[in-house]
Amino acid sequence: MIEPIIEYAPRKMINELIHIEMLNLVLFGPPGAGKGTQALFLAQTFNLVHLSTGDLLRQEIAARTDLGRMADEIIRKGELVPDSIVIAMIEEKLKKPKTTVGFIFDGFPRTVPQAKALDELLRKHNSKVSVMLCLEVDKAELIDRLLKRGLTSGRCDDAEAATIETRINVYNEKTAPIIKYYESQGKYHPIKGVGDIEEITARLKETVEKL
Ligand code: AMP
Repeated sequence: MIEPIIEYAPRKMINELIHIEMLNLVLFGPPGAGKGTQALFLAQTFNLVHLSTGDLLRQEIAARTDLGRMADEIIRKGELVPDSIVIAMIEEKLKKPKTTVGFIFDGFPRTVPQAKALDELLRKHNSKVSVMLCLEVDKAELIDRLLKRGLTSGRCDDAEAATIETRINVYNEKTAPIIKYYESQGKYHPIKGVGDIEEITARLKETVEKL
Protein backbone atom coordinates (compact mmCIF):
# COMPACT_ATOMS: atom_id res chain seq x y z
CA MET A 1 0.00 0.00 0.00
CA ILE A 2 1.28 3.44 -0.86
CA GLU A 3 1.10 5.71 2.14
CA PRO A 4 0.55 9.41 1.49
CA ILE A 5 3.97 11.04 1.28
CA ILE A 6 2.86 13.76 3.68
CA GLU A 7 3.03 11.21 6.56
CA TYR A 8 6.76 10.80 6.09
CA ALA A 9 7.80 14.16 4.72
CA PRO A 10 9.81 16.28 7.13
CA ARG A 11 8.09 19.48 8.26
CA LYS A 12 10.49 21.63 6.21
CA MET A 13 9.60 19.75 3.02
CA ILE A 14 5.87 20.16 3.67
CA ASN A 15 6.35 23.89 4.21
CA GLU A 16 8.20 24.13 0.92
CA LEU A 17 5.52 22.13 -0.90
CA ILE A 18 2.67 24.31 0.31
CA HIS A 19 4.64 27.55 0.13
CA ILE A 20 2.88 30.27 -1.80
CA GLU A 21 5.19 33.03 -2.86
CA MET A 22 4.70 36.28 -0.97
CA LEU A 23 4.57 39.66 -2.68
CA ASN A 24 7.28 41.79 -1.06
CA LEU A 25 7.64 45.27 -2.50
CA VAL A 26 10.49 47.66 -1.74
CA LEU A 27 9.27 51.19 -2.39
CA PHE A 28 12.36 53.25 -2.98
CA GLY A 29 13.29 56.83 -3.83
CA PRO A 30 14.76 60.04 -2.44
CA PRO A 31 13.12 61.99 0.39
CA GLY A 32 10.02 63.71 -0.96
CA ALA A 33 9.53 61.21 -3.80
CA GLY A 34 6.10 60.24 -2.41
CA LYS A 35 6.96 56.85 -0.91
CA GLY A 36 4.68 57.21 2.11
CA THR A 37 1.63 58.27 0.09
CA GLN A 38 2.08 55.60 -2.55
CA ALA A 39 2.92 52.87 0.00
CA LEU A 40 -0.52 53.33 1.57
CA PHE A 41 -2.26 52.88 -1.80
CA LEU A 42 -0.18 49.85 -2.71
CA ALA A 43 -0.69 48.24 0.71
CA GLN A 44 -4.45 48.63 0.25
CA THR A 45 -4.50 47.50 -3.36
CA PHE A 46 -2.45 44.35 -2.81
CA ASN A 47 -3.44 43.71 0.80
CA LEU A 48 0.12 44.05 2.11
CA VAL A 49 1.49 44.89 5.54
CA HIS A 50 3.04 48.37 5.35
CA LEU A 51 6.38 48.74 7.13
CA SER A 52 7.89 52.22 7.29
CA THR A 53 11.04 52.59 9.39
CA GLY A 54 10.49 56.38 9.43
CA ASP A 55 7.02 55.87 10.97
CA LEU A 56 8.38 53.32 13.47
CA LEU A 57 11.12 55.74 14.53
CA ARG A 58 8.62 58.59 14.89
CA GLN A 59 6.48 56.33 17.11
CA GLU A 60 9.55 55.78 19.33
CA ILE A 61 10.12 59.56 19.46
CA ALA A 62 6.47 60.19 20.39
CA ALA A 63 6.67 57.52 23.12
CA ARG A 64 9.85 59.20 24.46
CA THR A 65 11.81 55.96 24.61
CA ASP A 66 15.62 55.92 24.80
CA LEU A 67 15.71 54.78 21.21
CA GLY A 68 13.34 57.62 20.30
CA ARG A 69 15.59 60.23 21.92
CA MET A 70 18.60 58.90 20.06
CA ALA A 71 16.71 58.71 16.73
CA ASP A 72 15.32 62.23 17.19
CA GLU A 73 18.82 63.75 17.31
CA ILE A 74 19.86 61.93 14.16
CA ILE A 75 16.63 62.62 12.23
CA ARG A 76 16.81 66.34 13.07
CA LYS A 77 20.22 66.47 11.39
CA GLY A 78 18.94 64.63 8.31
CA GLU A 79 21.36 61.74 8.89
CA LEU A 80 20.65 57.99 8.98
CA VAL A 81 19.89 55.97 12.11
CA PRO A 82 22.43 53.10 12.52
CA ASP A 83 21.76 50.00 10.40
CA SER A 84 21.65 47.67 13.42
CA ILE A 85 18.70 49.60 14.91
CA VAL A 86 16.47 49.70 11.84
CA ILE A 87 17.31 46.11 10.91
CA ALA A 88 16.28 44.96 14.41
CA MET A 89 12.99 46.89 14.05
CA ILE A 90 12.18 45.19 10.76
CA GLU A 91 13.20 41.80 12.15
CA GLU A 92 10.71 42.27 15.00
CA LYS A 93 7.91 43.27 12.62
CA LEU A 94 8.50 40.34 10.28
CA LYS A 95 7.91 37.97 13.19
CA LYS A 96 4.49 39.42 13.96
CA PRO A 97 1.94 38.73 11.20
CA LYS A 98 1.15 35.04 11.14
CA THR A 99 -0.52 35.32 7.76
CA THR A 100 -0.05 37.97 5.13
CA VAL A 101 0.28 37.92 1.38
CA GLY A 102 3.33 40.13 1.70
CA PHE A 103 4.94 43.35 2.85
CA ILE A 104 5.62 46.78 1.47
CA PHE A 105 8.88 48.25 2.73
CA ASP A 106 8.85 52.04 2.75
CA GLY A 107 12.09 53.87 3.58
CA PHE A 108 13.87 50.59 4.20
CA PRO A 109 16.43 49.52 3.08
CA ARG A 110 18.43 52.76 3.00
CA THR A 111 21.94 51.33 2.79
CA VAL A 112 23.44 48.32 1.00
CA PRO A 113 24.03 46.49 4.35
CA GLN A 114 20.29 47.01 5.12
CA ALA A 115 19.36 45.58 1.70
CA LYS A 116 21.54 42.54 2.37
CA ALA A 117 20.05 42.13 5.85
CA LEU A 118 16.52 42.29 4.42
CA ASP A 119 17.36 39.49 1.98
CA GLU A 120 18.69 37.43 4.86
CA LEU A 121 15.65 38.09 7.07
CA LEU A 122 13.22 37.21 4.31
CA ARG A 123 15.23 34.10 3.45
CA LYS A 124 14.71 32.93 7.04
CA HIS A 125 10.97 33.26 6.39
CA ASN A 126 11.40 31.29 3.17
CA SER A 127 10.70 34.41 1.14
CA LYS A 128 12.38 37.18 -0.87
CA VAL A 129 12.05 40.71 -2.26
CA SER A 130 9.77 40.52 -5.32
CA VAL A 131 10.59 43.91 -6.80
CA MET A 132 12.15 47.28 -6.04
CA LEU A 133 10.04 50.18 -7.28
CA CYS A 134 12.12 53.34 -7.52
CA LEU A 135 10.24 56.64 -7.68
CA GLU A 136 12.21 59.13 -9.76
CA VAL A 137 11.85 62.85 -9.05
CA ASP A 138 14.40 65.57 -9.79
CA LYS A 139 16.14 67.51 -7.01
CA ALA A 140 14.41 70.89 -7.52
CA GLU A 141 10.97 69.21 -7.29
CA LEU A 142 12.02 67.25 -4.17
CA ILE A 143 13.14 70.40 -2.36
CA ASP A 144 9.95 72.21 -3.35
CA ARG A 145 7.73 69.32 -2.16
CA LEU A 146 9.58 68.89 1.16
CA LEU A 147 9.50 72.60 1.99
CA LYS A 148 5.74 72.64 1.26
CA ARG A 149 5.22 69.47 3.33
CA GLY A 150 7.18 71.10 6.15
CA LEU A 151 4.51 73.79 6.46
CA THR A 152 1.89 71.21 7.49
CA SER A 153 3.64 67.93 8.44
CA GLY A 154 5.16 69.16 11.69
CA ARG A 155 8.23 67.10 10.78
CA CYS A 156 11.38 68.78 12.05
CA ASP A 157 13.40 67.31 9.17
CA ASP A 158 11.14 68.97 6.55
CA ALA A 159 11.33 72.45 8.07
CA GLU A 160 14.74 73.72 6.95
CA ALA A 161 16.37 73.90 3.55
CA ALA A 162 19.76 72.91 5.02
CA THR A 163 18.35 69.67 6.54
CA ILE A 164 16.59 68.83 3.29
CA GLU A 165 19.85 69.36 1.41
CA THR A 166 21.63 67.00 3.84
CA ARG A 167 18.91 64.34 3.42
CA ILE A 168 19.21 64.47 -0.37
CA ASN A 169 23.02 64.26 -0.16
CA VAL A 170 22.79 61.31 2.25
CA TYR A 171 20.40 59.65 -0.19
CA ASN A 172 22.81 60.10 -3.11
CA GLU A 173 25.80 58.94 -1.13
CA LYS A 174 24.47 56.08 1.01
CA THR A 175 21.07 55.05 -0.32
CA ALA A 176 21.27 55.34 -4.12
CA PRO A 177 23.98 52.60 -4.35
CA ILE A 178 21.19 50.14 -3.46
CA ILE A 179 19.89 50.59 -7.02
CA LYS A 180 22.85 48.62 -8.39
CA TYR A 181 22.28 45.91 -5.78
CA TYR A 182 18.71 45.27 -6.98
CA GLU A 183 19.57 45.92 -10.63
CA SER A 184 22.08 43.07 -10.52
CA GLN A 185 19.22 40.83 -9.36
CA GLY A 186 16.87 42.06 -12.13
CA LYS A 187 14.53 43.60 -9.52
CA TYR A 188 15.04 47.32 -10.14
CA HIS A 189 12.08 49.13 -11.74
CA PRO A 190 12.36 52.93 -12.15
CA ILE A 191 8.98 54.69 -12.10
CA LYS A 192 8.36 58.33 -13.06
CA GLY A 193 7.38 59.92 -9.74
CA VAL A 194 5.96 63.20 -11.10
CA GLY A 195 2.41 63.94 -12.17
CA ASP A 196 -0.94 63.32 -10.46
CA ILE A 197 -0.84 61.05 -7.42
CA GLU A 198 -3.36 58.71 -9.15
CA GLU A 199 -1.23 58.57 -12.28
CA ILE A 200 1.83 57.55 -10.26
CA THR A 201 -0.21 54.93 -8.36
CA ALA A 202 -1.39 53.51 -11.70
CA ARG A 203 2.22 53.24 -12.95
CA LEU A 204 3.28 51.41 -9.78
CA LYS A 205 0.26 49.11 -9.86
CA GLU A 206 0.81 48.22 -13.50
CA THR A 207 4.46 47.33 -12.81
CA VAL A 208 3.50 45.05 -9.92
CA GLU A 209 0.70 43.39 -11.90
CA LYS A 210 3.14 42.59 -14.71
CA LEU A 211 5.51 40.70 -12.40
P1 AMP B 1 11.32 58.79 6.36
O1 AMP B 1 10.03 58.93 7.09
O2 AMP B 1 11.43 57.45 5.64
O3 AMP B 1 11.59 59.96 5.44
O4 AMP B 1 12.48 58.78 7.44
C1 AMP B 1 12.74 59.90 8.26
C2 AMP B 1 14.11 59.78 8.88
O5 AMP B 1 14.18 58.59 9.70
C3 AMP B 1 15.26 59.61 7.88
O6 AMP B 1 15.72 60.83 7.37
C4 AMP B 1 16.31 58.91 8.74
O7 AMP B 1 16.94 59.81 9.62
C5 AMP B 1 15.46 57.98 9.60
N1 AMP B 1 15.28 56.67 8.92
C6 AMP B 1 14.12 56.14 8.43
N2 AMP B 1 14.32 54.95 7.89
C7 AMP B 1 15.65 54.69 8.02
C8 AMP B 1 16.49 53.62 7.61
N3 AMP B 1 15.99 52.56 6.94
N4 AMP B 1 17.80 53.69 7.92
C9 AMP B 1 18.30 54.74 8.59
N5 AMP B 1 17.58 55.79 8.99
C10 AMP B 1 16.25 55.79 8.70
